[in-house]
Amino acid sequence: MKPSIEHIRELNPIEKIAGEYTKLKAMGEVLRGKCPLPAHQETEPSFTVYPDSQSFYCFGCRRGGDVFNLVMYREGFDFLEAVRFLAAKANIPDEELSEELIALVKESRAIEDALTLAVEYYRQLLIAEETSAVVEVGEELHTEGTVQL
Ligand SMILES: [Zn+2]
Repeated sequence: MKPSIEHIRELNPIEKIAGEYTKLKAMGEVLRGKCPLPAHQETEPSFTVYPDSQSFYCFGCRRGGDVFNLVMYREGFDFLEAVRFLAAKANIPDEELSEELIALVKESRAIEDALTLAVEYYRQLLIAEETSAVVEVGEELHTEGTVQL
């Protein structure tokens, strides 16, 4: 069986990958640390990792997503490069990434982009008052925006 995107995601828990980029501290259900993303220098940790939904969100630079998005932001990769990078980390050789997977990767990226735009749209609407309720809504939207393959 060829490795699917979901399989690659499972082999790369976001808390592990994020933990390689920044020092994370457990705070209840989530992990917090200083944002490791480019163009965001901070002193207060606002980078938050959600192991339950395998996602992250930075309250400072307002970037978030799943483990693929994390390496895309951090390494400047496109989605396919991120998949390859994480596959390599999970010891899945590049040649095992089938043509179908590569086609799928491109397709799902397009879907995900559309969903990310939708999430961002709602986030912008809600940005004015940053209550905890607003944050929850944003996270729900984000979770729904994650494409399951
Ligand atoms: Zn940030």
